[in-house]
Amino acid sequence: MDRHMRMEQRLHRLSQEVLRTDVAGMPLEWVDYRVAAILYHTGQVAYACGSPLYRVRGGYNARTGLRSVIEVSSIIATHGEMHAVDRNAAGYVPPLNNRTLFKRDANLCMYCGIVFRTSELTRDHVRPISRGGHDTWTNVVAACKRCNNHKGGRTPEQAGMQLIAVPFMPTYAEYIYLKGRRVLADQMEYLLSHFPRTSPLHARLRDDLARAVALH
Ligand SMILES: [Zn+2]
Repeated sequence: MDRHMRMEQRLHRLSQEVLRTDVAGMPLEWVDYRVAAILYHTGQVAYACGSPLYRVRGGYNARTGLRSVIEVSSIIATHGEMHAVDRNAAGYVPPLNNRTLFKRDANLCMYCGIVFRTSELTRDHVRPISRGGHDTWTNVVAACKRCNNHKGGRTPEQAGMQLIAVPFMPTYAEYIYLKGRRVLADQMEYLLSHFPRTSPLHARLRDDLARAVALH
């Protein structure tokens, strides 16, 4: 492998986000390698699970003159995050945005069932705002432009259209999964274990995991 390729591979690995949890193991957020390194340096990492991702060089030890090396893991449990409890409480409502909404619906148009690129999807209000519908997780679905135009300001019943799945509000752990740009198999498995048993995402993640394993 030449130097350039090694460099590219290293940059690719460094772009992998680390899953941060609280000390009890509840998923909190994605952090990049810089934040992960700071958490290690400041002694906030209680324990690491998952697989080693990369090594980050730290400061020089004044006594020994040696430079410290931190091995960053794909999942790190950290001290001192008090918000985990709130975020994982039953009443927590994750912010609604198209990127996570379309991922919730697996980039399928919830009316015609065809897969679309994110740029080709729109946010459809099942019960239109003009008819008293709200801009909330349980009233919005991914829809292709064609279906959304056809539906117009009508409810699915009025338009003679049928949803292929019931829209749901993700829990915090589900929301973290939806926010992840590139989720590694061990991170996926970890998040999966924090999903409610009834989560519609179970089946999809199992498929993704099987595919990830098959690739190795
Ligand atoms: Zn459609």
